Parts: sequence; C-alpha cells; structure tokens
Amino acid sequence: MKIITKTIRKAYNHWSPCKEIRCYHFAAAFNGTKLISFTQNNPIKTHAGAYRIGENFNLPKYKEHPFYHAESHLVSQLLDRYNSIDPNWSIVVMRINRRGLILGSKPCENCNKLLSAVGLNDIYYSTDDGNFSDGYSLIQVEELTMPMIMV
Ligand SMILES: [Zn+2]
Repeated sequence: MKIITKTIRKAYNHWSPCKEIRCYHFAAAFNGTKLISFTQNNPIKTHAGAYRIGENFNLPKYKEHPFYHAESHLVSQLLDRYNSIDPNWSIVVMRINRRGLILGSKPCENCNKLLSAVGLNDIYYSTDDGNFSDGYSLIQVEELTMPMIMV
C-alpha cells in the first residue's frame, strides 16, 4: 500500500535514536495518497498543544501528562493547518524502536477517542511483527521494510 510505504520511508528518514527515548512513534495523514501531515511523539518535553488537545477533547490524561503522542500531535497539526478535519483522510501510525525495528503501534485508548472525535476512522497501524493492520486485516510489508532496517 502506497501510503504505508511512504510513511515507513519518511519515518526512517526522521528516526534519530537517542538515549532518552525508547520508542519512536510516527503518524502520517494522507489525502488520497498525498502526505499532508507527519508528526512524531515527544515523551521528554511537555507541549502546550498537547495540553490543549486534552482540554478541547476532554481527555484528562493529556492535561495531566501533556506530552504529545504521534496521533495527538498529528490532530493538532491538522487542525492548525486546515482548521477542520476531513473524515476521508487516512492515518498511518507506526513505531520504530531504538534498534530500528518496526513494532506495534496500535493507537492507545485516548488517541483512539481523539481520532474518532475528529472523525478519522481510516487508520492503519504497525504490528509487532513489522506489518500493518487496519484493525481487521493484516497488510504485509516485510519486503519493503527489511532493507530499510539494515541502514
Ligand atoms: Zn496515544
């Protein structure tokens, strides 16, 4: 799938492992196959935007811990850029660990609430075996991701 391949490529370009961060979550939004937003989590620095998401969407956990998840960062960026969200846009979420392996990145409970609150339901996320899922079926991408892991 084109949007998954694009997200994987972009994520590896952005992936820069450091001591403080164990998991690197990335989220991408697509209008058709056009990438319109790309974000990363930030587990080390709080952000006013993350707090605002908690406040605007009634997610107390994001007010108590205003750290961006890749998905909340994405929604924030989409709202800043476009003012509203088109439910036809697709979202791809993935995680890379410190060693460069793709691991599961099923959106957490709060991000799920957020994504459905803004009407985003076309969501693909990485699985622990390095493939992707749309919540129903598996989308295999190993032939695409393996060469990139070697980099
Ligand atoms: Zn989350």
